[in-house]
Amino acid sequence: MLKHTVLAMLLATPALADINIYSTRQPDLIDPILQAFTEETGIVVNTAFIEGGLIERLEAEGTRSPADLVLTVDIANLSAIANAGLTQSLESETVNANIPAEFRDTNGLWIGLTSRARIVYASKERVDPSEVTSYEDLVDPKWEGRICIRSGLHNYNIALLSSMIAHHGAEEAEAWLTGLKANLAHKPQGNDRAQVKSIWAGECDIAIGNTYYMGLMLSDPEQAEWANSVNVLFPIIGGEGAHVNLSGVALTANAPNKDEAIQLIEYLTSDAAQSLYAELNYEYPLNPAVSPSELVQSWGTFTADSMSLSEIAKHRAEAIRIVERVNFDE
Ligand code: FE
Repeated sequence: MLKHTVLAMLLATPALADINIYSTRQPDLIDPILQAFTEETGIVVNTAFIEGGLIERLEAEGTRSPADLVLTVDIANLSAIANAGLTQSLESETVNANIPAEFRDTNGLWIGLTSRARIVYASKERVDPSEVTSYEDLVDPKWEGRICIRSGLHNYNIALLSSMIAHHGAEEAEAWLTGLKANLAHKPQGNDRAQVKSIWAGECDIAIGNTYYMGLMLSDPEQAEWANSVNVLFPIIGGEGAHVNLSGVALTANAPNKDEAIQLIEYLTSDAAQSLYAELNYEYPLNPAVSPSELVQSWGTFTADSMSLSEIAKHRAEAIRIVERVNFDE
């Protein structure tokens, strides 16, 4: 009898739908968090790693898109997807309670999950930490031939320049970028970690990079040496604070499995998932109940720039034009 009841219940329970994610984030960064969600809920999550053209893909697929949600980095990307009408408004008391309003779109068209600062890596041997206090300082001629940075057109640098425009106007921002270019040790090349490697190799003394790469380098046997050759410094922009950016999530306009997708978004803002982001990815959790990892805390506390990220993102097109005009990468 009991056996039959169990069987009847099993037959009556509809199969939990899979959720499909389009993600521009490296799969190994988010897989452990998604696995924890599946273990807790039984909902299976499929991730398609999309390296470029996320908006074009969603537009081409239209209502046939299998994507329930998108995971990406950079406020400019998040707002571009929302502005293209490819996401839908999320109304969730859980999300609203977990993530402060300044890190969410006012209409819930995207939700920030973590933040990262774009900071200065400085040689322990050749730079006294007191020498760098602002991003504006980096155009000082004393840094001539001593700075390394990745392509000016990379999203991370476009966002930093967008912030410079937001604080000082386009003209001053262009002068700043020209000054920065004049101080480069060599043409922009490689990723953020490659710049720290260049400091370790003695090719430059200062690099601009995102905070979490320090954690990622320290957990890699080869790269730990690079990381140990530098200090993490938190310069301020426009007299305000360090330049920060977000990673975030959005519910797609046509999410076929909307209820499950909302469950996942809520999970990603929870203490459990936010702790995983903090410990595994060395990012700053946006849920204020969760602390950064001990390692991240050891780099020191800092004030973030108080300029709103949406305001900064508005200057993206202008920033790209400036990078091209000063031939930053050449
Ligand atoms: Fe990155």
